Amino acid sequence: MAPQTSRIPEFYKKSYEERLQILKEQADLSDEEIHILRLHAAASFGTVSRMIENVVSVMFLPLGMATNFLINGEEYVIPMAVEESSVVAAACNAAKLARYSGGFKVSSTEPVMIGQVQLLGIEDFVTSKNTIFCYKDRILVLANAHDRVLVANGGGAIDLEIQVLDTKRGPMLIVYLLVNVCDAMGSNIVNTMVEGIAPFLEDLTGGYARLRVVSNYAVRRVVKATAIWKKEIIGAEVVEGVLDADALAFADPYRAATHNKGIMNGVDAVVIATGNDFRAVEAGAHSYAARNGLYQPLSTYYKNEEGDLVGELEMPLAIGIVGGITKSHPIAQLCLKILRVKSAQQLAEIIGAVGLAQNFAALRVLVREGLQRGHMRLHSKNMAGNVGAVGEEIDAIADRMVSEHCISAGRARELFEELKK
Ligand code: NAD
Repeated sequence: MAPQTSRIPEFYKKSYEERLQILKEQADLSDEEIHILRLHAAASFGTVSRMIENVVSVMFLPLGMATNFLINGEEYVIPMAVEESSVVAAACNAAKLARYSGGFKVSSTEPVMIGQVQLLGIEDFVTSKNTIFCYKDRILVLANAHDRVLVANGGGAIDLEIQVLDTKRGPMLIVYLLVNVCDAMGSNIVNTMVEGIAPFLEDLTGGYARLRVVSNYAVRRVVKATAIWKKEIIGAEVVEGVLDADALAFADPYRAATHNKGIMNGVDAVVIATGNDFRAVEAGAHSYAARNGLYQPLSTYYKNEEGDLVGELEMPLAIGIVGGITKSHPIAQLCLKILRVKSAQQLAEIIGAVGLAQNFAALRVLVREGLQRGHMRLHSKNMAGNVGAVGEEIDAIADRMVSEHCISAGRARELFEELKK
């Protein structure tokens, strides 16, 4: 039944039971369906209703632990929140194979985020630019006055850059504020600062500020991760296969997009588990992948002198261990505790290692048996469960589909019906 109207005044002010009642009528939900919403909200409604508006329930995700990670010589058990089967198993496997050569080596730049102020109505661009540069120190002091806690923690606005951009609405003066956001993801920090300095920039230039907002193209906040997978462990054929896959990804954006999707399987799972903003990380990753004017992979592979496979990943990672919901989400807090991270930079580096592990795992499967046999093993169990199979029925249907190389919802249903007979 189509909703009668989506115009529901002050839905946000309604009690929880009132919201459920309205939704029940709107979407023609049964009592059982309303019960599902209530059941999943039961443990955490108080917490989640402070995070977003108009809450009716909780959308849950499995939280798994990736084992075997050795990163810069330290052992890590890594929480991953992800709904896609095989992702966690693949990360564990790639991490295990990397241990033969010492695991992952990671490094990162300082956590510097960039905010933009778009200045319009400027008459003299050269003079405006020079004036802003003359007042640079004062602008930075002004920006830092908006977050004394950040400054006390060793961060703050550190620099600014200016560009005149030709746009389809004419030339514009863009001021880029560079802020070391320490252990925060930093978007709110930067937004507050650029809004705070905008009136002064208007006074200095005679123009007016339009957009004043953080950029998710976090090119100053980049993580590098590298690992070696030994030829004798993974096999010479896999080494060659991954190099072929790497070459295609650099030549072809169709492949690069899927190559990077494999990286983001791991990255997003840890980003979500730790209560971080995966949309921001995604936006940063893909804009970085296109920084050379062509959409390219975020990782690359080559053979070292011993013939082993070396994987390297480089990507921006704007994540925090304070701010956002990292401190208010109880599961995120636990995940940060499990990770034993002391800084946002350390967490970003771990996430970079997981991204590389995930990428290698996917490529290894692709160049060996192909995704359908490897990745779809667990997925076939999901499919069996979806058609109503339980317990041993699930394994029986999944095994049949895998052995037949035919993993689909239709086949799962047929096999289930066969079993029932
Ligand atoms: P936040 O607003 O909670 O700020 C973190 C605060 O923590 C800082 O203001 C600082 O004073 C304090 N702090 C204490 N100890 C610190 C330390 N060691 N290092 C750094 N800060 C410390 O969080 P945020 O990180 O500025 O913003 C993150 C949130 O912004 C996320 O929820 C994100 O979804 C959201 N957001 C994102 C965008 C975007 O990406 N485009 C835009 C708007 C909002």
